[in-house]
Amino acid sequence: MNSERHDEKQAKRIFEKSMSVQLEHADKFGGVDYRSVDGRIAVEVTRVTEGINRSSRYALRKSRAIGAPESILATCWKVSVPETGQRLDRFYQNVQPAIVELEQAGVKFFDRHRAATHVRQQGPLSSVYEVLVLAGITRASAMPRHNHKRDLEPHRLIPAHDSGGLVGDSDRAVTLLAAALQKKADNPKKLGESGAEQRHLFVWLDGDTPDDIGLPLDRNHASSTNEELGIPSKAPALDPRITHLWVVREGATRGWLWDGTMWHNLQIELDAQF
Ligand SMILES: [Zn+2]
Repeated sequence: MNSERHDEKQAKRIFEKSMSVQLEHADKFGGVDYRSVDGRIAVEVTRVTEGINRSSRYALRKSRAIGAPESILATCWKVSVPETGQRLDRFYQNVQPAIVELEQAGVKFFDRHRAATHVRQQGPLSSVYEVLVLAGITRASAMPRHNHKRDLEPHRLIPAHDSGGLVGDSDRAVTLLAAALQKKADNPKKLGESGAEQRHLFVWLDGDTPDDIGLPLDRNHASSTNEELGIPSKAPALDPRITHLWVVREGATRGWLWDGTMWHNLQIELDAQF
């Protein structure tokens, strides 16, 4: 007999409020999490998280605890870090001062290959680029036009493993999310076996979700309120056993719902989450 997890209960509340449908906990013997009373709707709750692997996270946490108090960033930067944690235990101490120097030079983007050429030609930023190359950074980009929930919260470096694309694009986020969901074979299996007409997958994102999936719905970044980076426009590539897809980020007031035909914005009352 499986008991309801906290995030399942939260998902249930959000679902019921948005759809005006009552759900019953159904995962008593390993099946789908919830069903509507009439059995037409089945809901499975899952989570896509952990963009940074464990060894990297451990090293980064160590470095973050020390911090780089004298290097004040003018904006947040997304920084692509190596897959191994080896060189990350001094990430903030080494990389943040170098990024501040780039900001002061008016540079908003770093690319390892271009930097290597610059260093070979003994360009003016060679000493800064060398630090970043040695730290194993492949790319870094300044994040423009965003603000923080709390104004006093300082801008920061956001480490991520390199996936090549731009952060903040909703369609790209959905493409990557669908790819991540393909690795979770259990979800469509349970939904398919439910025999319900509507088979909803409710996906939680959180602070450990890879940025290129999670950032468009992050309340701390204005990309989440920026219209051009708003609701996705393309159909997600879903297993046919999933008819509806909910995408909600923990602590955010907005989410997305794919109903099989189109995307809808979800307004989420935060009290539904706690
Ligand atoms: Zn910032």
